Parts: sequence; C-alpha cells; structure tokens
Amino acid sequence: MFTSYGALYSQAATSAAQADASSAQASARAAMTETELLRHDVDRLLMLTEALWGFLKQLADAVKAIDLRDGRLDGKAAKAPPTACPQCQRLNSAKFSRCIYCGSPLPVALFGG
Ligand SMILES: [Zn+2]
Repeated sequence: MFTSYGALYSQAATSAAQADASSAQASARAAMTETELLRHDVDRLLMLTEALWGFLKQLADAVKAIDLRDGRLDGKAAKAPPTACPQCQRLNSAKFSRCIYCGSPLPVALFGG
C-alpha cells in the first residue's frame, strides 16, 4: 500500500489539530472550574461584607446612643454622673475609687464611667 506524502502530511496535520483541540478543551474546562471557584469566593466575600456592614451599623448606632446620653449629638461622651457611696449614701465624683467622706470603696464603672 502506497501512501503519498500529501496524505501523510494531512494525517499529521489532523493529529496535531486534534491534539490542539484536546488541549484547548482541557484549558477551557480548567478555566470554567476556576471561574466557578472564583464565583463561589465572590459570593462568600459579598456575604462577609454584608455582615461587616451590619456590625459597623450597630457600632455607629451604639456610638450615637452614647453621644446622645446628654441630649446633644456633639461627638463627646457625657461625663459620668456622680456615684452614691454604698456606705454613707453621699455623692462622689465618678473619678474617685473611694468615698471622700467615709473612705469606703465605690462601685467601679467597667469603662471608666
Ligand atoms: Zn461614703
């Protein structure tokens, strides 16, 4: 059986084209997989971002509530009110840890009043 050079060349070109097509198909499949993974990451990041915005909104509302304790929205926290001594019932400034009248320990505010 005689095969011409043209036919051999044509067979080789066809094989090369099939190999290229297979390679392109594998690349496309890998790209689709990567796209799916990235889409999943984006969905997850959008969910986390929404949750963080929710936390920030709650924080902003809490800061505003603290700011408004004195009835003014001025960017300053109200000064702590005087503390009643549990022993003698007299009022002491919130900055003292002991009663200035009887020396008894005063209740301590967790965040400095
Ligand atoms: Zn006292």
